This record gives sequence, C-alpha cells and structure tokens, in this order.
Amino acid sequence: MRFSKLFGKTLRQAPAEAESISHQLLLRAGMIAQEAAGIYSYLPMGWRVLKKIENVIREEMDKAGGQELMLPVLQPFELWQQSGRYVSFGKSLFTLTDRKEHTLALGPTHEEVITDLVHRYVQSYRELPLLLYQIQTKLRDEPRPRGGLLRVREFIMKDLYSFDADEAGLDESYQSMCQAYSNIYARLGLPTMTVEADSGAIGGKDSHEFMVITETGEDEVIYCSNCDYAANTEKAQFAKTDKTNIPSEAKNLLPLEEVATPEAETIEEVAGFVGVPTSQTLKAVFYFADGEFVFVIIRGDLEVNETKLRNALKCSELRLATEGEVNEAGIVAGFASPIGVEGVRVVADDSITSGSNFVVGANKSGYHFKNANYPRDFQVNLMTDIALAQSGDSCPKCQGKLSSAKGIEVGHVFKLGISISEKFGASILDNDGKSRPIVMGCYGIGLGRLLAAIVEQSHDDKGIIWPLSVAPYQVYLCPLSLDKSAILPTAEKIYQELQKEGIEVLFDDRDDSPGVKFNDADLLGIPLRLTLSPRTLQSQSVEAKWRTEKEAPLLPLDNLAVQVKKLLDEAVSSQL
Ligand SMILES: [Zn+2]
Repeated sequence: MRFSKLFGKTLRQAPAEAESISHQLLLRAGMIAQEAAGIYSYLPMGWRVLKKIENVIREEMDKAGGQELMLPVLQPFELWQQSGRYVSFGKSLFTLTDRKEHTLALGPTHEEVITDLVHRYVQSYRELPLLLYQIQTKLRDEPRPRGGLLRVREFIMKDLYSFDADEAGLDESYQSMCQAYSNIYARLGLPTMTVEADSGAIGGKDSHEFMVITETGEDEVIYCSNCDYAANTEKAQFAKTDKTNIPSEAKNLLPLEEVATPEAETIEEVAGFVGVPTSQTLKAVFYFADGEFVFVIIRGDLEVNETKLRNALKCSELRLATEGEVNEAGIVAGFASPIGVEGVRVVADDSITSGSNFVVGANKSGYHFKNANYPRDFQVNLMTDIALAQSGDSCPKCQGKLSSAKGIEVGHVFKLGISISEKFGASILDNDGKSRPIVMGCYGIGLGRLLAAIVEQSHDDKGIIWPLSVAPYQVYLCPLSLDKSAILPTAEKIYQELQKEGIEVLFDDRDDSPGVKFNDADLLGIPLRLTLSPRTLQSQSVEAKWRTEKEAPLLPLDNLAVQVKKLLDEAVSSQL
C-alpha cells in the first residue's frame, strides 16, 4: 500500500473527546472514526487489524471443532418473549416495528435464535455435541458508551454456542473453549487473567471472564496472591471472619440495651460513640427492587454488592431508596433497625452471623441498641452473601490476602445449562429413549474491544506497538530525501520485491521530512521499519529498525526481501 493513496489521515493531536489511550491512538492513527456515541467506522488500516484478529479467532474456533454459520441481526421479538429475557435486557435491547406492525429486536446476542434453530434440526443425542459460531455485528443500547471501542452500541462479536447431551458434555465443551480462548490471547500477544464472573442478564451457572489487567480498565478484579482464586468484583467472595477479636468464651449473648446516641448517625460516628469497632455494628441500607421496598442489613465494616443483591432478589431493576421513601416505610433513617420492623422484606448478608452483641439502630431518633444478636432479636426473610469483596479481605479458598486490579474484559464464557433450551423445547432423546433438554454453553469475544485492549496493553508515548500477528502491515518502507536521484527508483524496487515475497508493506512514498515519516511510522505501530536514505544507499543497504528497539542495524540491498522475510519469521516464532 502506498501511503500517499491511503484513506484516513494521521493526526498530531488526539481529539478532545478521546478519553482512553486506545481511543486517542486509534483516532490519531486514522484507524477508526466516530459516527455517534458508541458508533464507529473502521478505516482501512483499522479494518486490516480487525480482519487479522478475526482470522486468528476463526482458526482457533475451527480447530476446537466449531462450525461457522450466520444468524440474522433482525430477530422476531417473540423469541425474546419466549426466553423472558426481554425483561432482563431491558432498555439495552433495541427494538423496532416493521411496516406490518410486527415488533423486531436487533440482536444483542443470539441464544434465542440459535436455540430455536437447533430445536428444529436436532432430535437425538447422537447429533451432539455441536459447537456453532458466527462472527457478526451485535447491537446493544449501552447507557454509557465510552472509551472509544471499549464500550460501544454496535460491535462485532464472535459468539459460539455449545450443545451437549449432558452436564459432563458441557464441561468438556467449556474446557475446550477456555483452551481455545487462551490460544487466541497468546497469538495476539495479550496476557490475560481468567476470573470467575457473574452471569448477569444472560443467566446460567458457571461463568468466567478473561481480563487484560491494565490501569485503564473499567472492570475490577479481586485475586489472591497466595492461590489461584480470582473473580470479577461483581462475583468475588471473601472469608467473613469475626474481626472483633473477642475470645470465644467471652461471647455470651448480652441482654439487648437501648443507648442514647445523639447526633451519631453514620456507622463510624455510632461505633466511635459507643466505643466498638465498625465490625461490631450492623448497617441498614434500603432499596427498591422492581418497585418493592427492601431492608438490607450487613455488618457495619462491609459494603453491599448490588450485583449479588440483584441476583439474590432475582430482580431486574434495583435502586437505593430515598430518605423520604425510608421514612414513609415507617423507618427512622439514620437509626434504622431490623428489630421490631414489620411488613418489610429484610435481606441480610451472612456477615451478621460472624460476630455478636452488635450495635444497631433502635428505630427511634437519637437511639441505638447494644447487644443485638441474630436470630434472638430479629428475623430476616433471606440470608445470603451480598457483600462486596475488597482489597485486603481474606481469600475464600486459602485465607490469603486478596488484592484488586483494574482490567478490561476481552472474553466471557458461560455454562447456560438448560435455562434457555427448556424454554424453547430444545430437547433430545437420550440413549434410553428419554427426552432431555439440551445442555448449553455460550462463549463470546468482542473483536473491537479486543483490538482496543491490545492498544491499551501495547503502546508507548509515540504510538501503538502492534504484535506482528495483527499489525496492519508488517513492514514500513521509509525512503528519505525523495528529491535525491536513485532514492525513489530504489525504494520502488524494494517495494515490488517485498510484495513478491508475500510481505505486507506500507510504502511511505510521501515527500515529507524524516520527522513526519518517523512519527507516523511510530504512531501506526508497524513492527519493522526499513529506512532508505542517501547515506544507506551509498553502502547499498537500508536501516532495519523494530518498533520496540532503539538500534537500527543495516541490511544489504542485495537479496533484501529474503532477509526481511527471515527476520519476520524469526520474530513470529519467538513471539509464540
Ligand atoms: Zn487464596
């Protein structure tokens, strides 16, 4: 490709609206262009990278036994009613009405369509397992598109669905997909951490995410430095140890006692006033879950994890109640108590059982209770884990210390089980002739997100550093002083030879200064730069500089294409 003909301009400055590094660099490099919030065009350079990522993914899916197909973007809304998931997807699901007044959905994912399809074609366990996938555009009405390609409303995704006769089959499919994903990230030069994840709106059981750990990530992971435990913060658990250090023989349940706590409203104020650690207090938090008022109680030193709470309540909309709403429910905000509360659903975090003789509100302005103990003094409707794990907490597996890190999710796998196949009557006859629902899994990678994550992970202050496996071009051919005779004809000859050798070359045929050309070469992140100048021409050579190296050793012009090919091959094999 000749640079002078390339569509898409490099920019000196990143546009003001670009927040993340990948957003800035991809815009500056002329690889993407924004059309609206969360909607982007890929320009030729960016599209080349995307196609290479797509090919790596396709190869690994095929190797794992996947069969590629193509499902429609336009989906009958009835399928979403049948699965019930139009509720959990809520406003993220784009819908439209056609000329015959039929409602259609624009696919944010394809479990419904593919399960319905498999239901029509598969009858026997002998036809399973099946791994079906596509690489296709998805649409989701994200509430807050941001970060360039990191969170968008229209994106290309590889989604694979596995269909097995039983749980053991699903385990195998799941394992082979996890391995395929690891292969993909390795080939893209992208180190990832596998973490336990919440299955969110998709529903299902086991779920893992593949995270690129980087400061700019918007997800948070909690991991143990002592064992292999790692989880998305939405899902992460921790050991809720009794932090009061009260010897067990002293843990007599003392009689409930009302104490005046004037002007002490926050947990810290109350704990300080009474003279106990916050871990010996109980905190009340109030929510509306699908319109129902909910009283949540948790140990005072912990925070509520709203994802866990939403899952526990099986609700789709969850929001904090206002102070007015709390008072309307007959509760005194700031002095709230589960003791004596009536007609309100109470959900407790199981931390309220690690510790004893807690301080809790008396539901009376200016008063708290001392020595509150569950279940002696109050009842709850639901007791479960709804606490947020934080850095410094204890590992649920080994009691080691948990740390936290920011990450970008670049892949997500779910064991759906039979949650969707049951709704579509997708079943098979097993070898005893009995009908059983098909056991499903689903596995997604957003290609644009992956591309952006590579840039977040691999760049310097001059620009992008593409791994060879996905670089838009392998070689940046950079002749200098085009006005000097013999430079341009020699560069043209090198350009032809390299292409003949099957090397992808971006030929900077512009009559610009060395500074402009070198800056663009660095910004675009092309792995190997070949510079031809009057000086190198004198010694019948070019400078060969890797994007990541400082030195630029000379390569003789004689047989240049073969030498370059060898360099590239060596670099690829050392990367793998
Ligand atoms: Zn651990």
